[in-house]
Amino acid sequence: MELRSVAVLGGGPGGLYFARLMKLRRPECAVTLYEQSPPSATFGFGVGLATATQRRLAEADPASLREVVARAWSHEMSMSVDDVTVALPADDLIAIGRAELLEVLRAQAIAAGVDIRYGGRVAVDDLDADVVVAADGVNSATRERFATEFGARVEQHDGLYLWCGTDFALPRAVFRAETGEHGTFVAHAYPYRRDRSTFLVETDPETWRRAGFDATTAATPPERSDDASLGYLSTLFADTLRGSGLVGNRTRWLRFRTVTCARWHHGTTVLLGDAASTAHYSIGSGTKLAMESGIALVEALDTGTDVESALAAFESARRPAVEHLQDIARRSMLWWDDFPRRLDMPVEQLLIAYMTRAGKVSLGQFARQAPAVVAAGLGQYAGAPVERVPEDAVSWVLDRPLTTAGRSWPTRVVPRGELVGSDRVAVLDAGRTRQTALAAFDAGERLRRTGRSVGVRVPRGLRDLAADALAGGRVDLVEWV
Ligand SMILES: Cc1cc2nc3c(=O)[nH]c(=O)nc-3n(C[C@H](O)[C@H](O)[C@H](O)COP(=O)(O)OP(=O)(O)OC[C@H]3O[C@@H](n4cnc5c(N)ncnc54)[C@H](O)[C@@H]3O)c2cc1C
Repeated sequence: MELRSVAVLGGGPGGLYFARLMKLRRPECAVTLYEQSPPSATFGFGVGLATATQRRLAEADPASLREVVARAWSHEMSMSVDDVTVALPADDLIAIGRAELLEVLRAQAIAAGVDIRYGGRVAVDDLDADVVVAADGVNSATRERFATEFGARVEQHDGLYLWCGTDFALPRAVFRAETGEHGTFVAHAYPYRRDRSTFLVETDPETWRRAGFDATTAATPPERSDDASLGYLSTLFADTLRGSGLVGNRTRWLRFRTVTCARWHHGTTVLLGDAASTAHYSIGSGTKLAMESGIALVEALDTGTDVESALAAFESARRPAVEHLQDIARRSMLWWDDFPRRLDMPVEQLLIAYMTRAGKVSLGQFARQAPAVVAAGLGQYAGAPVERVPEDAVSWVLDRPLTTAGRSWPTRVVPRGELVGSDRVAVLDAGRTRQTALAAFDAGERLRRTGRSVGVRVPRGLRDLAADALAGGRVDLVEWV
């Protein structure tokens, strides 16, 4: 198909990366990108790019990835609860400041021949091009303009988060919970520059109100940071911060919004990145989603026979991966919402629960990555020390005995028909699929907190998933169906 002009609305990572790849693939096509903010103004701190993402970006455009990696900072991960910190090896996990990432992508787009126009909001109706790519972010006015046509849905969640930073590099990524007089705050923090770390804090609405942050949020103008909250959190997280204060950049408490669209394109306009779909920040994937969608869109436009069928092909190629990630992100969000209630769990077992929380990483995979952590966590699960991870960890987990609700079970797998509900044991049905089973384990974990033991009827084919849920303290017993 002949493409004479492509207009891109939005100069975030999705828009810039798409624009560069499009121009590289079709040098004869005029690619114009419109961004409302000047290059120097950007929100946020560092964003993480996992190994698999780097691989995909390297395949699509090795030159820009090289520049990104050169400006990024690599780190390991750890989790801290009370005085215990457990480090996790993580190969090639990097983070880069949002400002640096945009700088690299901007320079690369210009080098490829993209015409970038800064200043002033542009509306989709003002643009005249063969294809209009709306990469205008989570607040996309394009999505709002054609909300019915796109079948757009925006769900705002209750929990609150605040994206700020530190003026030094933490030694590694850290998850840390601190409970003060108003409740629990959880930090996800990671270094992204020699002198900077992202420090993201989340809490529940009750704690937020008790601490008076509803009032400080209302009193903070959009161009300022909520200094009262930053001061409070700097004191609460003083140990992690080594006495240094938190820094803001138009930092305020926000509620995460999950965006989904039944259709990503309407006529010759297509949504890209956060405008089309968001994934909760706890899986650190929004930038990756936007950039990987850019790769797929270029491929579809380059090989399509007409715009309409190319956009349809883009959507059907990309939607399964995006929806899969959104599903993982939703589970991860629920897990973090409940995090303060898990703080009585030993930290290694908590790490097993964390890594297997969304069904993306199995116990076996995690054991290969961090055998010492998993051995310690399995010991906590079984109530007796474990020297090394058993060769067949899944069978080992299923075979552990348990005494609960006034009864002793020789293994965690209950003989068929013996799992009977009572006021001390709740019984749930896992359904037939991984998705329904994960939802049942989520429900089981919540029920366990009411003091009941939880048994779940699970298809035998999902025994790996059942072992993850048992070892992560989400359920007590399973019965094969
Ligand atoms: C707290 C937090 C932590 C995060 N951490 C990570 C992480 O670790 N890893 C990760 O991959 N992602 C992370 N993300 C997500 C990531 O920031 C976004 O998903 C990503 O920026 C989406 O890219 P985008 O190009 O779709 O949109 P955006 O980056 O939002 O860019 C949209 C651009 O469009 C411009 N624009 C909007 N409307 C107009 C208009 N009418 N005219 C002209 N310009 C316009 C905006 O100014 C903006 O520059 C995080 C997000 C949050 C909130």
